[in-house]
This record gives sequence, C-alpha cells and structure tokens, in this order.
Amino acid sequence: MGVCHTAHGSFQTPAFMPVGTQATVKGMTPEELEGLGAEIILANTYHLYLRPGHERVRRFGGLHPFMHWNRPLLTDSGGFQVFSLNSLVKVSRNGVEFQSHLDGSRHFLGPEKAIEIQQALGADIIMCLDECTSYPATQETAEQSLRITLEWARRCQEAHRAPEQALFGIVQGGMYADLREKSAEALIQIGFDGYALGGLSVGEDKDTLFRVVAHTTPLLPEDRPRYLMGVGLVEDILEAVQQGVDMFDCVLPTRNARNGALFARFGKIIIKNAKYADDPFPVDPDCSCYTCRNYSRAYLRHLFLADEILALRLNTIHNLHFYLQFMRELRQALAEDRFGCFIDAFRARVPGESLRDPREEDELGPSPSQRGRAHFSQKQSCALAQPNLLKNL
Ligand SMILES: [Zn+2]
Repeated sequence: MGVCHTAHGSFQTPAFMPVGTQATVKGMTPEELEGLGAEIILANTYHLYLRPGHERVRRFGGLHPFMHWNRPLLTDSGGFQVFSLNSLVKVSRNGVEFQSHLDGSRHFLGPEKAIEIQQALGADIIMCLDECTSYPATQETAEQSLRITLEWARRCQEAHRAPEQALFGIVQGGMYADLREKSAEALIQIGFDGYALGGLSVGEDKDTLFRVVAHTTPLLPEDRPRYLMGVGLVEDILEAVQQGVDMFDCVLPTRNARNGALFARFGKIIIKNAKYADDPFPVDPDCSCYTCRNYSRAYLRHLFLADEILALRLNTIHNLHFYLQFMRELRQALAEDRFGCFIDAFRARVPGESLRDPREEDELGPSPSQRGRAHFSQKQSCALAQPNLLKNL
C-alpha cells in the first residue's frame, strides 16, 4: 500500500478507478463520486478525442474544469479502443489509422498524437500508446507487436512535455514470459513515472492471466505505481494485490449496475428476479451506502423493470460503494498486516465464482487451452506484496 501524489491531490493504493468513459462516470455527479470515496477516476481518450474533441476540452482548461472533477484523473492512450472498436485499422511503425465508430471519418493516432491529445485533456496520469497484442498470438506475432509498442513508448517519452502529468509505460509481450521480461526491462530503461500491465484480460484463462501478473509485477520498480489495466473482479483484485499491483480500473461495477446486477458480500443479486418482488430487505443488509440505507430490493426491482432513471443511479451508487468499500477494507488489512486473514475471510464469505459476471463470460467465450503455449515455469507466488510506503509521482 502507499500514496500517490498528483497535481490534483493524492490517492491511496491499492486503488480502484471507476471508469468515466465520456468524461462522466455514468449517472454520478463528481460530488457523489467523492462521497463514495473515489479518489481517482479514468476517462477514455479515444471517445473524448472523437467527441467533443480534445481541442475543445483544452479551450475549457482541460477535463478537470470541463467535467467539474478536481481530484486525480487518468486517461488511457486511446489505443485499446482504436483496436477494439474498429475492424478496419492499419498499423504501421508510425501509428494506427482507423475509422471513427461514430461517423466513419478517418483518423490517425501515433505516439506523438496520443501524447498531444492527453496533454490537451490534462489528466494527472497519462498512458503511452501501445499495441494490445491480440490473443491468442504466436511468439513471433507477439514479438513484432512488442517491437512497435517499445518504439512508441520511446517516442511517447520524447514527446512528453508536461511535467505535471505523470506518464506510464505499458508492458506488453502477450502471454510469453521472455517477452514480458524484455518489455519490462526496456521500459525501465526508458524510465517512466509508473508502469502498467497491458494486454491482459483479453480472453486468456485465469491461470495464464495470473502467471503473467506474478511473473511480470516483480520486474517493475517497487517505488513506482504498478497498474493492471482492465482487471476488475474483486477476487482478481485480491489476487493481483498479493502480487504487488497498486492500481485497477474496470467498468464492471457501473456497467453491471445499469444491467441490474448488484454486488453483495454474500454474492450477487439480479434485481429483476421475481423472488425480490416483495423483498423488504436492502440489497446487502451489511452495506452502509445511500441505496441500502433507504430502499428495499422490491422497490429497486420495480424501478428497474419500469426503466426508471433512478434505478440506474441507485444501483450505481451501491455497486461503486461496494467496490470502494472493498478497497478501503483491503488497504486497512494491509496496513494492519492481516492481509492473509482478509483473503481467507473473503473466500469464506463469497462462495466460489458467485461474483463473476455471467454475461462477460458469454462475450469472451470459452478460453482456449494454453497447453503447450504457457512459457512460464515460475510458480505463482503467494507472498504478501511488500508495502510501498510512499510513491511519489
Ligand atoms: Zn449498498
């Protein structure tokens, strides 16, 4: 655990960042986010570049005043969405050509441009442009992709001219241990304010994901934040914190809330289910959030089925509170040197896979077998992450 200092204040780690794709965490005012204990949020460069446009945001003084959020903010490079939302992309050493998913207009995103856009958006933490290696990928493909990512990382660092913005490098290398090592080593040599693990949670099975995390995280400097991009199930956060990861982001709490899937300490509630029609209890009787203090499952079910806006808001308040409270308790356990007990208590309380998002698994499809392709020999370490007392950005 530690504290990261930015131009807009500090945030404690391990940190969970709610996702505000379009410069808003859907349905929440910044005051409500602060009230829930969000210390840092994430916005997506790809979406904001296309609409309303980074130059327009710059004229308003950057995202902080534009969206009325005065705390730490992170933007991604835009690369991930360019690759995931567009079927027609052309990658070269200089960058990537793509068509807007909104109107089909053609655009080019290179490392210098990714930095320029993020500088205009003005987040406290910005990310290097990288190529998210597809999955599955042969070692040769992963190596070629890594070569591009490393060249872009060097060019991002050279283009980076705003010292108040921390720039993070992103480790790629597919699921190959030697490529991940090469990537981490090269990025450390270039020198970044923090390091992210990218190209994960892209369809690989959990064992592979955590073999990569366990192998890669210890290679990264302990006095710099280590950010596992896009991994956000609470049981996965627990596992990654054990390996020394400091930062997480995921759309899961907010997206699930809008779909009526609510997290609780004992598992998950699908609020539209008929069994809640007359249920007078709150979503989670042990939860202290605004929603649980004031509303029954029956009322939330009614709002959800009636397509009322308040349903989305109340569900989001609860799910974000659940995540941010989980992180507070996790940090407390680390501070009191009882993380092992915290994990045991969590696993005893939550039966098996009950927090998993069934829709998400449907989207990903069955994970292909990794046999013969897993190059990791190192056993997953279960040692407690060494606490980093202070991480200055
Ligand atoms: Zn609640």
